[in-house]
Amino acid sequence: MKTRIGFVSNSSSSSFICPLCDADYSVMDGDPKGHFSLCTCENNHSFCKKHIAATEVELLEYMRKHVQKSEIYDVENIDSFGIKKLEKLFKMDQYGKFTDKRLFSNGHNFNLNFYSSIPADICPICTFQIIPQSDINCYILKKFKKRDEIIEEIRKKFKTYKDFKNFLKEENKETEIDEQWNKISKLSREHWAKENPYNEN
Ligand SMILES: [Zn+2]
Ligand SMILES: [Zn+2]
Repeated sequence: MKTRIGFVSNSSSSSFICPLCDADYSVMDGDPKGHFSLCTCENNHSFCKKHIAATEVELLEYMRKHVQKSEIYDVENIDSFGIKKLEKLFKMDQYGKFTDKRLFSNGHNFNLNFYSSIPADICPICTFQIIPQSDINCYILKKFKKRDEIIEEIRKKFKTYKDFKNFLKEENKETEIDEQWNKISKLSREHWAKENPYNEN
């Protein structure tokens, strides 16, 4: 029988890029949950904590609700806490970690529990305050049902991949290709409207 000696670990750090600001983080196993600068909403959108769509006071109230609902933390009379008391309870150290012992009962970690499933109400993506480019791309493809046509157009219009990338970089610049595209997408919109008469005003 062979025996492995030494530290064996299957976990490895990889990069996570915030979809809202492109900030790059090193996270374990590609999972942003648990990173002290990141949070994840109940619909699994992950981003920097600074993008949370709530004021500091609102966030304190959401934290209070989380403690009340989960019943695993022993915080007496939290229902009657004023803002000052809430601030004290949810005070964080310089690393963004909560310090009050009552938030770490029975192996439960408020940091991880709260920030790995924040309510959709305060997620900037769930509330449509910001729509990630990847979702916009999917929407365009779905709405205009033109994926194959788009691929065909890209192949026809650009001699090299470099030309294609250069075109993508030239924002807001009307070119012959833009005009062609507008013509095609207008036709496609009309086609879509015909097929979905109830959705178009
Ligand atoms: Zn960010
Ligand atoms: Zn979300």
